[in-house]
Amino acid sequence: MSEILTPAVVLRTRALRESDLIVVLLTPGRGKVDCIARGARRSRRRFPGGLPVGARGEVGLDRGRGSLAVLDSFTPSFDHSGLGRDLEAFAYVAYLCELSDQLVGGSAPDPTTFGRLCEAIEDAMTWAGQPETHKPALLRRYELGLLDSLGLLPALDQCSVCGAAANVSEDGVAFSAARGGVACPVHASGARRLPVAVRDLATTLLHADPEARDRAYAQAEREIRRGLRDLCRELIQPHLRAPLRSLAFFAQIATRHADKGSSDGANCSDGSE
Ligand SMILES: [Zn+2]
Repeated sequence: MSEILTPAVVLRTRALRESDLIVVLLTPGRGKVDCIARGARRSRRRFPGGLPVGARGEVGLDRGRGSLAVLDSFTPSFDHSGLGRDLEAFAYVAYLCELSDQLVGGSAPDPTTFGRLCEAIEDAMTWAGQPETHKPALLRRYELGLLDSLGLLPALDQCSVCGAAANVSEDGVAFSAARGGVACPVHASGARRLPVAVRDLATTLLHADPEARDRAYAQAEREIRRGLRDLCRELIQPHLRAPLRSLAFFAQIATRHADKGSSDGANCSDGSE
């Protein structure tokens, strides 16, 4: 019997020696956990479905001797076999996990982030039948939600300095990521103008129910979606320790679609449309 039993998502794995695997997990109660899965590369007996990135399950952990816990068991709680067949879903899940791995630090309990990641992965695994805009909407929602639960989301409604109403005019709302978000007229010096529609779409993706979110995103003009994508990038960039490798997947998929002559091809990128 393991010392610790907890739900977990596999964020990243790395080969260690000939037969072991280092596995980085996200858990609701212990944040990120680095552990070693002994023999996982040689034999699939103990980990029958393997330990693919994005897999969610109940893990059994022992404390081990060094800084690494020992992964005793992994019982999948969600069927991830479809990931091998859907390259696009695979790319999305890889991105969601890599982003979480880079932004989440430490071992503080964070059930909100864990829940958001589970929801986003499940969404990417079951999106068949949804309109194309559902996919980038899912990414934006997760990016914003992750920033929010990590305390990194800038103020979107009230001045980040004094809490007064933000300075809104025809050309947008005063905004400075470096200063913490939107600004009132008094604190707006040096701020740029963020289109109100971009700010509103961000708020809707974060707070509205799934149907309203998808509808708002689908109805938003392309320029507004791009503005939101660029805003998310701007907010994520300062917190990255390294370039996101999974973004290359998106580029590959977009190229494939373009080769096939699909007019929707670019929609498959990270929402670059
Ligand atoms: Zn202010």
